[in-house]
Amino acid sequence: MAIGAHPDDIELGCGGTVLKLAAMGRKGVIVDMTDASMGTRGTPEIRAREAKAAAKLMGVSRVNLGLPDGRLADGWDAQKLVIDAIRAWRPKVVITHHASEEHPDHEVTARIVKQAAYKAGLAKLDCAGQAYRPGRVFHFIGMEAHTPSFCVDISEHWEAKLKAIMCYKSQFHNPDARAFKGKTDLASPAFLDFLTVRNRYWGTRIKRRYAEAFTCAELPEVGDITALGAGRFA
Ligand SMILES: [Zn+2]
Repeated sequence: MAIGAHPDDIELGCGGTVLKLAAMGRKGVIVDMTDASMGTRGTPEIRAREAKAAAKLMGVSRVNLGLPDGRLADGWDAQKLVIDAIRAWRPKVVITHHASEEHPDHEVTARIVKQAAYKAGLAKLDCAGQAYRPGRVFHFIGMEAHTPSFCVDISEHWEAKLKAIMCYKSQFHNPDARAFKGKTDLASPAFLDFLTVRNRYWGTRIKRRYAEAFTCAELPEVGDITALGAGRFA
């Protein structure tokens, strides 16, 4: 389960990892907290269509919790919606934003998810469904300088990640979609350059072409150390 504040956050932050897991036959779901109604470009309806197309391309399910964009707050109402989703889908791991990011909705999402992932496992909680706690919560690293706990090689899924991102015609630079007005950082042609550089940079850290980086609060356990990456250029 990958939980993002806005439809497109998961594609940008950990789309390659989601694609990789789907290619391995794992069942996945993207949970969007808000409908992105505060977005400068496009409308919630357009964004919902784009999000659906991106999820289809990535081979995962998708749900939207309908929380207020730009006014997202950590409280029981929001936590309960995430708890309901966790209990319904029973994910082995949850991926979400890092708790320290530029966009306030991203930070709040990380806090809500932390609370919900833990509380979903409390048997006496006043919530529907059977108690269930995901094994891990991982945080993808965006533009900020955090030290990752591990990186995932997404070289084989980079093109598909870009395709999923480009499903959001209203959000990103696209010469064929001039109908969308409004100047934003995301819509600048420079943004996709930055995204490429970021994923290439994490790739260099593990000697792969492209990678995504994650943190986790707990130390990840390794069962078989020979299964760790070779640490050599392919
Ligand atoms: Zn966002």
